[in-house]
Amino acid sequence: MKTFKKQTKEEMVVDTVTCNGCCKAITIYDDRLEFEYTFGYNSEKFGDMIECRFDLCEECIYSLVETFKIPAKLVDRDECYVFSSRVTDDQS
Ligand SMILES: [Zn+2]
Repeated sequence: MKTFKKQTKEEMVVDTVTCNGCCKAITIYDDRLEFEYTFGYNSEKFGDMIECRFDLCEECIYSLVETFKIPAKLVDRDECYVFSSRVTDDQS
C-alpha cells in the first residue's frame, strides 16, 4: 500500500520573451516565432550539433519574410487560402 503526501514542486515557466531582432518585449500570447534548430554534420556556417535558438516579434518576422527571394507562402487557416507574402507577386 502506498500513502501520498502533498509536495510543492518548483517549476520554471516562461516569464518574459524578448525579440532577438529588435529587443522589444513580447507577451507570451503575442504572435511570434520561436525558432530552435540543431544544425548537422554538413553545416558550414554554424557547425555540427550547434543549436540555434531565437524569438522574433511579428514585425521582425514580417521584415525577414520580405527579404526572401522566393516569397513565403501564407496560408489563411480559416479559409485554407494560400497566397504569396508579396501581394504584388503572382498569387500561386
Ligand atoms: Zn522584433
